[in-house]
Parts: sequence; structure tokens; C-alpha cells
Amino acid sequence: MASFTGTYKDELIATANAIAAPGKGILAADESTGTIGKRFAPINVENTQPNRVRYRELLFKTKGLGQYISGAITYEETLFDTATCGTPMVDLLKKEGIIPGIKVDKGVQPLFGTNGETVTQGIDDLGKRCAKYYAQGARFAKWRAVLKIDAATHCPTPLSIDQNAETLARYAAICQANGLVPIVEPEVLMDGPHSAEDAEKVCEKVLAAVYKKLSDHHVLLEGTLLKPNMVRSGESAATKCDMTEVAVRTVRCLSRTVPPAVPGITFLSGGMSEEDASLALQAMNVCPGKKPWSLTFSYGRALQQSVLKAWKGSDANIAAAQKELMIRSKANSEANLGTYKGGAGGAAATASTFVANYSY
Ligand code: 13P
Repeated sequence: MASFTGTYKDELIATANAIAAPGKGILAADESTGTIGKRFAPINVENTQPNRVRYRELLFKTKGLGQYISGAITYEETLFDTATCGTPMVDLLKKEGIIPGIKVDKGVQPLFGTNGETVTQGIDDLGKRCAKYYAQGARFAKWRAVLKIDAATHCPTPLSIDQNAETLARYAAICQANGLVPIVEPEVLMDGPHSAEDAEKVCEKVLAAVYKKLSDHHVLLEGTLLKPNMVRSGESAATKCDMTEVAVRTVRCLSRTVPPAVPGITFLSGGMSEEDASLALQAMNVCPGKKPWSLTFSYGRALQQSVLKAWKGSDANIAAAQKELMIRSKANSEANLGTYKGGAGGAAATASTFVANYSY
């Protein structure tokens, strides 16, 4: 690998390792304004800026959360927001020992000539934005690329794999030049009837392409994190694979593609229920195979579904909602350590969080 020439080398390595510390993972609270509106709708909360502040303040003020959560991904609005108590949102996180992060991509646009494949936007002004986010206290970033499996139209096509890998690598290099640890997120969607075997083949191809491009772009792998999907059968597959198969296939796929220099693999939950996401993480951490990285969580839906259900927009329910967040965070922390026994509970722990063709 060509040498990394950035000035933030030691800090990037320290940040990535702090996030991937044993028993810790990430709270993904970076839903765009549109997406958080979809979360608020079922609990009849209006999608206004004050309500978004109230909700995220609830999350970040959860006492003891830093015991299980090392980093929180915010949406740009939140990174610059002030809580109702007058404290900047980033300071609420820092008080709990949680590292603030920021979603820096600007969503996806079509790759013309393909069957609905996409590439992620936001490179143009990324350097300038990263510098601004660093000044505001962010120390890591997230960029989500989306790929889909569709055997009939040969998706993901080589074009989609190439363009998404290239863009992820360019994003990662720009982040590192500005002191932010890049979370590299190539999400292969669980939509479709594909088998777990087909998913494994696709995920291996995608990850191999991503790590080739990261090397080409002189990215310092020790100062990165990977945020992949788990390898599993499609949401509408006739035969669904069990947790053990998910674990074996995912660990094997990662061991073939992700260098040991990467400190942590922080999975997305991708539409699994809260409990399934915890059980799958536990299964991976106890299954046989080489695992030179921390296998942990960066869950959005699988950490917040029960919280939202308990909160319902009412201040009277804040303590109950925070309790739900602690229950699920602790479960995932234990799963990272391979000690989760299952059955942690939660107001909506077993409900699916699947959304077709999901955007974040
Ligand atoms: P889910 O855990 O809800 O899939 O989201 C995590 C995330 O940050 C997706 O980009």
C-alpha cells in the first residue's frame, strides 16, 4: 500500500480503535429529515425541528449509555443543534464519553442504463464539509453506498460495483485528510428472493472491489471502519437461512476480503428485528473462523424501534424510552463480547424493521 501522507494519522487510528473497543458499538441516529418523519408518523409525532431535537436529546442524555455505545452518528442538523436544556448536542455525547459522528453522503442518484442501480452523491464539496464537521466536534463519518441483488438483470452489475467502490474510496480518502475516520458502508440490500449462497457470492465480490479501491486511494486502513450488511437470504426468499448460517457465511465472506488492519466491522441492522440483530451479532462472535477485527454493531432501526414505541412523543415517557435504549444497547454490547443469551426484551424487540428499497 502506498504511504498515507495525511497529518491526522495517529488520531485516526486512535479514534477507530476507541469506537471498536471491546463491548462497544455505534448508535446510528443519522436519519435524514425525511426518514425520521417516517419513524415519527406511526407514533403521531410531527416532524418538526423542535421534535427532532427532543427525540435525539432523549437518546444522547441516556445515563450510562457510554458504557455500551462508543460513537453516535448524527445527521448534519443534529451536529449543529442545541438541546432544549441549552447544551450543544455534541457536548451531550461527549459528556457520556461517546464520540460524535456525522453522515456525510447526500443520498443516491440513478446510474443511467441500469435496472435502477444507484451511486451515492456528495463528493464535490466533501473536503470543505469535513473540515467544518471536524471543527464542530465530529471525529468520524459515514457514507452509505447501496447495491441490490437481482439475478434476472445481473445486479449488482460490474458498473455499479466499480462506481460504488470508487466513490467509497474517494470519500474515505477525503475524510482521512480532514481528520474524520471514514465508516465505509457498502450495503447490499436484503430485498429480493435470493438465496444466502447467492448473497455471499455478491458480498464477497463487492467487498473485494471496495478494498482494492481503498488501497488505490492510499486510505489508511487502521483508521477506518467497515459497515456491511450481514450475509443472509433475501427478505422474500422461499427458504430462509437461520442465525448460524448467517454467522458462518458472514464471517467467511469477511475473512476472505477485509484485511486484519481494519480495527472494527460495525454492522448495519438492515431491516432485522432488534432481537434478531442482537442474536446474529452474538452468533458471529461465537462461530468458528478467523476474526481479527471487532465484530460489532452500528444499528439504527434495531436500536431505536422500541425507544420510539415507548416515547410516543411525550416527555412523560422519556425515562421509559431511555430504559429501552439501555436494554438493546446492553444486549448488543454483550453480543459483541459473545455473551448475549437472548431475550433482552423491549417494547418492539421482535417486530421486523424491514422497509423495501430502503433509503436512510
Ligand atoms: P439500520 O441499522 O437501520 O439498517 O441503519 C444503519 C445505518 O446507518 C444505515 O445507513
